[in-house]
Formats: sequence, structure tokens, C-alpha cells
Amino acid sequence: MLYDITRTITSRLAVWPGDAAYVAAPQMSLAAGESVNLTSLTFSPHTGAHADAYYHYESDGAHPAGMPLEAYIGPARVISVTKRDGALVPADFAPGALANVERLLIHSHVSDLPDDQFAETFPYLSEALIAYLAAQGTRLIGLDSPSVDAFDSKDLPCHHALKAHKMVNLECLYLRGVPDGDYELVALPLKLDAACGSPVRAILRELG
Ligand SMILES: [Zn+2]
Repeated sequence: MLYDITRTITSRLAVWPGDAAYVAAPQMSLAAGESVNLTSLTFSPHTGAHADAYYHYESDGAHPAGMPLEAYIGPARVISVTKRDGALVPADFAPGALANVERLLIHSHVSDLPDDQFAETFPYLSEALIAYLAAQGTRLIGLDSPSVDAFDSKDLPCHHALKAHKMVNLECLYLRGVPDGDYELVALPLKLDAACGSPVRAILRELG
């Protein structure tokens, strides 16, 4: 059983306020008698489920092509949280729930929002939670929220803490209907140069 934890990228899929929404523009068209349908794409790499590259918040940081691929594939745990806004700390999780988690995917109310509604109120990470997870070897933290930091954060402490701990993140996942538990995650970024992030086709495979 596969869970597709990716929203369909359409022109109406909400993006961060001011960011570039998805446009698939026709360059050639069969209907116009040309030999193929050919489209060009314009959109923020933070549209829908995506991996932030370190370059997103540090000038000498890696682009998607240079991000550590192995972090985005392997055992993952889905955990639901009831907090609708504010920073998540280790105490927001049940005792033992985070033990030995290699990849943590946090499921919040944001997955219940329609595609065209941007969540300005969402749970995000804390430096304390990132340090706690890093100390036990966690490689990846994914959220359905649009950022690992608060909506109005300008210094982005959680983004920087992830890089400092050599961890990676996924944002804007779609976890509606996915039971909490352990899975295999596959969410590979495209091998893009120069970009600040990459869309991913994020899936969870049930463990046999
Ligand atoms: Zn992002």
C-alpha cells in the first residue's frame, strides 16, 4: 500500500504570499497543428510538497543537486499533533514516540485545508526539538506546514538549526488520511542547480 503525500500541483494550489504560483504555459500545441504539445513551467520550487535546499537560507549552502540524497529515502514515522499554532517541543509528543526516529513526519490540521488556502497559522519546529532529534540521529523532519519556522520569522532559527545538524526538511506535505505509524519514505528532490529548493513526489510505503 502506497500513500501519496503530495498535493497535485495546479495553478490554484496556494503558495507562500508573494511567491510564484504554478503556470504551465503552452509553447506548441497539437490543436494548432503542431507536432507535439509542449509546455513551459513557471513556479516557485516551494510549491506543494518540497525539499528546502540549504541555499534557501545560506548563500554558500547547497542547491538541490548537492543535498544529501540518502536523507530523503528510508524509514519514517508519521506522528499527529494537536497543536494548531506555535512551536513544537519534545514535550508535545507522547513519551517515547520520538525514540530512534530516522525521519519524522508531523501531521497537523494543515493537511485538512483545501488546496487553495494558504495556512498562516500552523505548528512549526523549535531549536529544542531539532536538537533533541539530532542527538538521536534523525536525518529528516517533514511537515504539512509551509515552514519549519513561524510565518512571520525573519531570522529562521529552525532552518539554520537543521543545516547546523546536517538535517534536511520537507514542507507542505499532505498527510490527510495517513494513519500514524512507521513507513518507508521516498521524497527525492530534483537534481537542480542554482535553485533554492525542489518539488518532491513524496510517498509512504507500508512496511511489509
Ligand atoms: Zn520551503
